[in-house]
Amino acid sequence: MYLAPRGTTDILPEDQPYWLYLYDKIRHVVGLFDYQRIDVPVFEETALYVRSVGEGTDIVDKEMYNFVDKGGRDIALRPEFTAGIVRAYLENGMRTLPQPVKLYTTGPLFRYERVQAGRYRQHTQFDIESIGSLDPAVDLEIMSVAWQLYSELGFQGLAFQLNSTGCPVCRPAYIQRLVAYYEPRHQEACEDCLRRLQRNPLRVLDCKVETCQPIIAEAPHIIDHLCPECAEHFATLRGYLDALGRPYTLNHRLVRGLDYYTKTVFEVWAEGIGAQNAICGGGRYDGLAKELGGPPTPGIGFGSGMERIILLMKENGIAVPGVPAPQVAMIYHGSNAKTRCVQLITDLREQDIRAVMAFDDRSMRAQLRNANRVGATYAIILGEDELAAGNAVLQDMLTDAPRETVAQTEIVHLLAERFESDYPCKL
Ligand SMILES: [Zn+2]
Ligand SMILES: [Zn+2]
Repeated sequence: MYLAPRGTTDILPEDQPYWLYLYDKIRHVVGLFDYQRIDVPVFEETALYVRSVGEGTDIVDKEMYNFVDKGGRDIALRPEFTAGIVRAYLENGMRTLPQPVKLYTTGPLFRYERVQAGRYRQHTQFDIESIGSLDPAVDLEIMSVAWQLYSELGFQGLAFQLNSTGCPVCRPAYIQRLVAYYEPRHQEACEDCLRRLQRNPLRVLDCKVETCQPIIAEAPHIIDHLCPECAEHFATLRGYLDALGRPYTLNHRLVRGLDYYTKTVFEVWAEGIGAQNAICGGGRYDGLAKELGGPPTPGIGFGSGMERIILLMKENGIAVPGVPAPQVAMIYHGSNAKTRCVQLITDLREQDIRAVMAFDDRSMRAQLRNANRVGATYAIILGEDELAAGNAVLQDMLTDAPRETVAQTEIVHLLAERFESDYPCKL
């Protein structure tokens, strides 16, 4: 017996209605904003992720699924989407298109994580990126995609968490301040934070360790130290959010902590989703394209784990439409009737009627029971007598309507007409 690898999961048929519903909603919402789908490879050169996600992050230091392939290349299963999409933007000359280029995707990501509830080594993400514009209205648009998606899915009490992480002009001075602020507090700070102060100082702000909390609470705020350009960008974005009446909270602890992440960072929080309030997080990465060897190109996006969305939908009692039941179940007795049955069921399906038949020559009683179980609207019954007369018996499975005897030559046409006129089907 083989088992699925640790940290992976099968998405069984009973869960698929959630997935189909979520994919439909995503397509609907990104369509309203005119984003185009892109698909990037499931694996890339490891160096791409090291360069883009950055050393000193958990993803690169601990969680990457990388290996040397048979050709001696260092390859990694994608741990996130932005790097691959920006690589594709540069490689495919999308700079020559009207800017910004607005892209979205969905698919599996891989992280070698400690396996725990809601954490998978393979998980599925919805990701959206707008590449090529510095306009704060683009930041608003990306945030609005998230807002509309979660509100159309039925989440309540949505609110943004918002921060700016500055830019290469203003951030270094802020980081100096932050490091200086921590200097007399090294005794109280945790081990990890002391390490972060060396490698990646902004990350001390999102430390979760108890003893670090009072230090963080008093730490200087980056938005008080933005350069004029970053301050204006942030103020304009806030102005748009105010104009829309979208609730947001300034969250000074929201950081991404790498050089190519710039300006806007945000999360969307919702009510009733437990201790981890965020449904999604994203931000600007104006330095990323240049870091990957391209010309300086601004960009902003966010990613949202789809397993997590579905878990939260279930926890919040958000219902989704089921898979429609078969419209017709064929019931037959004997091998001649079975042959006629496979002909009729083929005709039904060619008329776009959802139809099932039993296999392995079950009794007619068992076949009828099954027709009931699957919720078929009609059963078409072909016994020896009906076969001899060229007829079939039509039984309405959802009401008490009397059985009808119909010529076999007429029955497909008759049902096609009834279903055409929106004859009620069981969902
Ligand atoms: Zn700045
Ligand atoms: Zn800490």
